[in-house]
Amino acid sequence: MMVQDRPAPLIDPFARAISYLRVSVTDRCDFRCLYCMSEDMTFLPKAEILSLEELDRLCSAFVRLGVRKLRMTGGEPLVRRNVMSLFRSLSRHLRSGDLDELTVTTNGSQLARHAAELADCGVRRINVSIDTLDARKFTEITRWGRLEQVLAGVAAAKAAGLAVKINAVALKGFNDDELDRMVAWCGDEGFDLVLIEVMPMGELGGEARLDQYLPLSIVRAGLQRNWTLDESDYRTGGPARYYTVRETGRRIGFITPLTHNFCESCNRVRLTCTGTLYMCLGQEDAADLRAPLRAGGGDEVLEAAIREAIRHKPKGHDFVIDRRRRGPAVSRHMSVTGG
Ligand code: SAM
Ligand code: SF4
Repeated sequence: MMVQDRPAPLIDPFARAISYLRVSVTDRCDFRCLYCMSEDMTFLPKAEILSLEELDRLCSAFVRLGVRKLRMTGGEPLVRRNVMSLFRSLSRHLRSGDLDELTVTTNGSQLARHAAELADCGVRRINVSIDTLDARKFTEITRWGRLEQVLAGVAAAKAAGLAVKINAVALKGFNDDELDRMVAWCGDEGFDLVLIEVMPMGELGGEARLDQYLPLSIVRAGLQRNWTLDESDYRTGGPARYYTVRETGRRIGFITPLTHNFCESCNRVRLTCTGTLYMCLGQEDAADLRAPLRAGGGDEVLEAAIREAIRHKPKGHDFVIDRRRRGPAVSRHMSVTGG
């Protein structure tokens, strides 16, 4: 049997291997979370957006270059028309063993109708973003969302055998009084929970962000009054630091870009739905992969463009939320790169 030569893996200038690609498949969303989008977002014209076939071709090029984990995000990935065909086609890399994991971060609104098919495409774990379990507050923070619909989606995911991780952004004065309840709920449901510090991205108006920022060091200390958090060396290839909640047996993760810098172990890059590759969530360094994709050349051209881009991955981000700096650290919204 002929053994095909594998291309050299993607290694950045700081000797970090790039094994994780996050793909924002759409900039659109059916929610307007207060910390993520403004109410009157202008979305990209359709012509700028990569087709699902183009997204498949790009993701597959990354897989050939050694990416082992793909996460579909957005915007809301499950509102993109026919998005399941992308999951379906990418699932071939799971079957061939070239990919370890295909996964999705979703607001859960469309999960009830897609959960079973996601599982059928080889998706094993999903992240669902829920910041509060209070229906009124849920609509307040998402502006347009309905908690009931999301919980139905989560139930469908559980029924389909998907492992569910709940993502919650910790927001001062909004859900800080509810986090104990969320730990208990996740324990009852068998879900892991990840708490995220609000990051300074996108113009949302005035001093709002400073008011929202809640350091997770404070949150963790508060939780430890009611729960025993045992340190865990569990890692998912993402930036969260995990503990096990002894009373529930479930994990709780903390993503703390502002209080703890995790850049030294960064293994990921982010692709937008227009084919722009961002080398770091917190920096503007980007490369256009749509031009080489649409230039009509072979995959070598695309792979060369990806390699060139990775050569520019910066060492780390410099997020700061303080009073001296009024604007966001990065002007693009989180929905561009999908978190
Ligand atoms: N729509 C999907 C969702 O909400 O899960 C996927 C995209 S969303 C941009 C991905 C994650 O980023 C969500 O968990 C969301 O809460 C988080 N997020 C959005 N804006 C953020 C910000 N400014 N700081 C921290 N997390 C943010
Ligand atoms: Fe939409 Fe997710 Fe942003 Fe909320 S966090 S507005 S659900 S993209």
